[in-house]
Amino acid sequence: MDNFENMDFCQSCAMPMTSEEIYGTNADGSKNKDYCIYCFKDGEFTSDMSMEEMMNFCIEKMVELHPEIDRAEATAMMSETFPKLKRWNK
Ligand SMILES: [Zn+2]
Repeated sequence: MDNFENMDFCQSCAMPMTSEEIYGTNADGSKNKDYCIYCFKDGEFTSDMSMEEMMNFCIEKMVELHPEIDRAEATAMMSETFPKLKRWNK
């Protein structure tokens, strides 16, 4: 993974945002580079999830997309990452 450090991650679901289309949108229609379009649209979060709910959702997705990662590993990874994200880091 080159440029991993420079990559933008959604500050809500930790998804890597690899292209402009994935950025969320502000109320005025401009791009919001902190959040992805699945989490943040038209200036609002698309769902009112708790950090645990979002984390579990992402763990499911991760093990589905990456069969080489087991659930315990994914959980450990997410538990490390999520509390640092802007949306949950309060
Ligand atoms: Zn997101």
